[in-house]
Amino acid sequence: MDMNRHDDEQLVDWLSPLFLGSYAENNELLEKVLVELLRDHVYWRRNIHPEDRPQIPVLAETGPEYRRFVGRMKTELHGLTARLKNSAPFFNPRYIGHMASDLLLPGLIAQLVTTLYNPNHVTDEASPVTLPLELDLGRQLATMFGLNTDPEREPCAWGHATSGGTIANDEALWYFRAVRYWPLAAASAMREAGFEPGEIAYGPKDFLQASDHALFNLPIDTVIRLRRALLAEVERKLDRREARRLAKAIEAERVETLGMAEFHARHPALGTPAVLVADTAHYSWEKALKLLGLGSAQLEAVAVNERMRLDADALERKLAQLHEQGRPVLAVIGILGTTEFGSIDPIHEIVAARQRWRKAGLEFAVHVDAAWGGYLASMFHRPDGTLLGHEEMQRDFHFFPSAPVYKAFAALRHVDSLTVDPHKLGYVPFGCGAYVARNRGMTDFISQKAAYVFDEAEATADSEYERRFRNLGQYILEGSKPGAAAAGAWLSHRVLPLDAENMGRLISETIRNCEYFFEHVDQLRDELDGIARVALPFEPDTNLVCLAINPAGNRSLARMNAFGRRLYAHLGVGEEIDIHTREFFGSRTLVHRDKLGAKAAARLMDELDLDPATFVEEPDDSGEQADSVFLLRHTLMNPWLSGHEEGLNYLDRYCRHLAALVRRELAD
Ligand SMILES: *Cc1c(COP(=O)(O)O)cnc(C)c1O
Repeated sequence: MDMNRHDDEQLVDWLSPLFLGSYAENNELLEKVLVELLRDHVYWRRNIHPEDRPQIPVLAETGPEYRRFVGRMKTELHGLTARLKNSAPFFNPRYIGHMASDLLLPGLIAQLVTTLYNPNHVTDEASPVTLPLELDLGRQLATMFGLNTDPEREPCAWGHATSGGTIANDEALWYFRAVRYWPLAAASAMREAGFEPGEIAYGPKDFLQASDHALFNLPIDTVIRLRRALLAEVERKLDRREARRLAKAIEAERVETLGMAEFHARHPALGTPAVLVADTAHYSWEKALKLLGLGSAQLEAVAVNERMRLDADALERKLAQLHEQGRPVLAVIGILGTTEFGSIDPIHEIVAARQRWRKAGLEFAVHVDAAWGGYLASMFHRPDGTLLGHEEMQRDFHFFPSAPVYKAFAALRHVDSLTVDPHKLGYVPFGCGAYVARNRGMTDFISQKAAYVFDEAEATADSEYERRFRNLGQYILEGSKPGAAAAGAWLSHRVLPLDAENMGRLISETIRNCEYFFEHVDQLRDELDGIARVALPFEPDTNLVCLAINPAGNRSLARMNAFGRRLYAHLGVGEEIDIHTREFFGSRTLVHRDKLGAKAAARLMDELDLDPATFVEEPDDSGEQADSVFLLRHTLMNPWLSGHEEGLNYLDRYCRHLAALVRRELAD
């Protein structure tokens, strides 16, 4: 008991300087540092060329136009800040809605201050200081996932900031397509030119004779080596002019040049590529397929199990089916922390499936959408980068990490690329996602300027990649981009490194919040005994929990959903809602019957004492049936939620509030 109190005191001491705080407790710290850094910026301006005379006259501020302008600015700013007062109060432990919380002070300050210098990370010519920090941010994240960042060893990972997870997901498919389609374009151009590369050490034995199917079904690392080896042969056998002509011919045959329609018309045997992702996928995946012209119909949804994790058997069946149809698979996406439920897909099973199917001649790239759960990886690594043992980790928790969750995180170093959002569980301001690739050689396929450099040694040298990435805009989807966002995340990781003792210590509080909620939901059940039934549709894997509440005696799912919406009406924010009238802030989600699966659906209906006949694929007009179940959804990422002092436990208070809401709604 005393030991616990001591631990808690230590934890409070450790947590206290991290955020501004729900009461803005650290306002003096923030103000002092900001003013100091602002003055520092002012002196920097003055010292560029101190001998220049100031342009703005000393008495300018007395001029009428000057004063009118300042007046307008102040009026508008006050208007804006007045309106901002009705923002969603993410920082407050009463906020358990969307994926946002208080912001880590180091990242927040670094981003605000860097904005004064306004670096543009499209190229280091516009950001000589901070663009290298973005590349370092990529290394910080890659290391957290267990990927190699030592350029002396291949493959070497790289990563960069994006505006968010959506763009990182787009980029993942953009890269995979560029690499996987390249061998087909190269073979076409070489056949056309009558260029005979001879036997190449990578890929099919006879490159020119290989089928489109064989050329597509090559692992990413193989294609990277194959390209280098082929271009080295071109360099060796052709003179400079011929070599350049052939390189141009390859570019002309690529899918990026021809477009999907024309490319596939020229390669009719290839078939339409599919992308596989669990049913729980974020909607950005549909956008990505639409955007790249792959077509959202080619996004093959894989069923999930009752824990809302991708079902490995369903994946296996889907792959077998596609293999039989002869359809190529561009990628399988695993989700590390689904947006709705926080569930963790079995990344290890996806990686194992790839090993098996590779032998059968079916290849697919593996991307992990860790927009939400990526930062949980920090809990799994010691400061020296080694992976913590499963039992060692379990000591700090009651349930976490379950064996499948542990294995999923341990398998991250085998995947081809990942999406992670510093602006979610990284606690930095919005506008900062990230894309991380295991093999930076994928960028060989991306440059917007056709590379006519064939010298393998030159193309693979570390300095070449470093030079390349200084022209970041050439290798990513975005162009001009805020250096301040990347600098904020980078600095945050410098202060709070991405290991179990630092960032992981913070994230583990979010898991403990969730375990606390899970274990104390019985109190809510007791409190509502005879009044309403409470169910957790699935055990949480991480730090998101969903709840369903059914008034006693109600047997209809549609009516339970309507009741849930009435409860949610007290938990949401909106322009016309005064946030001060809110006790707590939550969010909601609808889970379709298909997604839940028959077993989980039956169990949930039973637990809630609902008539299973009211949960149907196609509801009738009776108003009793529904095809989805409405859930209150809770993101438990604020480390102060479980309160570290008597009477300050917001999870208990939320449960009491929810019980009161239920009683009130039922009394009406
Ligand atoms: C949030 C999220 C995204 C999209 O990220 P944005 O930063 O909102 O663009 C993608 N995938 C998952 C799993 C997410 O949680």
